Amino acid sequence: MVTAAVIVAAGRGTRAGGDVPKQYADLNGKAVLAHTVAAFANHPAVDHVQVVIHRDDEMAFARACADTAILPPVPGGETRQESVMAGLSALEVHSPQYVLIHDAARPFVDAGTIDRVIGALGQSDGAIPALPVADTLKRAENGHISDTVDRTGLWAAQTPQGFRYDAIMASHAKARDAGRNDLTDDAAVAEWSDLRVAIVDGSAENRKLTTSADIEEAQRRMNTGNAANQTDIRVGHGYDVHAFEPGNHVILCGVKVPHEAKLKGHSDADVGLHALTDAIFGALGDGDIGQHFPPSDPQWKGAASDIFLKAAGAEVAKRSGAIANVDVTLVCEAPKIGPHAQAMRASVAKILDLSMDRISVKATTSEQLGFTGRREGIAAYATATIRLPL
Ligand code: MG
Repeated sequence: MVTAAVIVAAGRGTRAGGDVPKQYADLNGKAVLAHTVAAFANHPAVDHVQVVIHRDDEMAFARACADTAILPPVPGGETRQESVMAGLSALEVHSPQYVLIHDAARPFVDAGTIDRVIGALGQSDGAIPALPVADTLKRAENGHISDTVDRTGLWAAQTPQGFRYDAIMASHAKARDAGRNDLTDDAAVAEWSDLRVAIVDGSAENRKLTTSADIEEAQRRMNTGNAANQTDIRVGHGYDVHAFEPGNHVILCGVKVPHEAKLKGHSDADVGLHALTDAIFGALGDGDIGQHFPPSDPQWKGAASDIFLKAAGAEVAKRSGAIANVDVTLVCEAPKIGPHAQAMRASVAKILDLSMDRISVKATTSEQLGFTGRREGIAAYATATIRLPL
């Protein structure tokens, strides 16, 4: 038994706003489409995954699905029906018995729903997941109710819609030849050509992300889910010192501060970001900034230190973790940090993509004692708390 999936990702998705079609919008660090594709690529009963894309989206697709072993994408057509037909045709060489046709913008489809659809294809030409309509339905004209619609027997259709491959292929070809391009889902194509299509239980989670608010809501739900799993709490500490040399400004936590000297270093000598980067690597048990970015490597000469911090943050994300908070203390007699502390917090928040309330930047002097007291340089201490999945 060969089962294939067609993921329809050719739409422009303008309703979601933003400058990328919604199937390429970021959801938890990956494109929506990447989540959707993974649900099928990782399902043991699905042998091939064929994505249908808009011809302008080749780069976006390559970025989104670089890590997934699936068939090369095919370009879609003007209408959804044409796009599905393109995907179905591309699968012909694999001789599938069953095909599942799915919206790219439904990333939360679960294995159980896929199983139920496939399971029903033994007795029917097609099967779709659906939910009974729970709300009372009104028909309105000019903003006023004209009628209450009896919802008995009404279902809200979801995807994946599964079919016997030869049957849905023939139905789509027949609809195309008859000039019917107004059928809004594949079940409608099947119904139009008198296939028997069963309804199986859908899932409330399997909703279609249509607007940017839908995507934000999905992100919130994922964050909550993630936080519940991230119970391995780690604290890391970092310390760094840079000496002064002749100059007229220092860079501290990504902010340029006028001063009578500059800090000496291979990169931009941002002592605050260096200590913080080390704190994050420390929490991960993953070495230090010097191991990740050797000072001997000429590519880091004069580098803005936000790239080091960003890399440490990316390492946390790569382990499906999150940074709970960071706290940086700068030690110097001068320059005065207070007037720049908010800008420094904002800078760190931006680099790590965290909210300001998770970032602290503060300063102290060493009461004119020691090298910082003698104004020979600046020291920085940092801690970072991170949450990782156990
Ligand atoms: Mg340093």
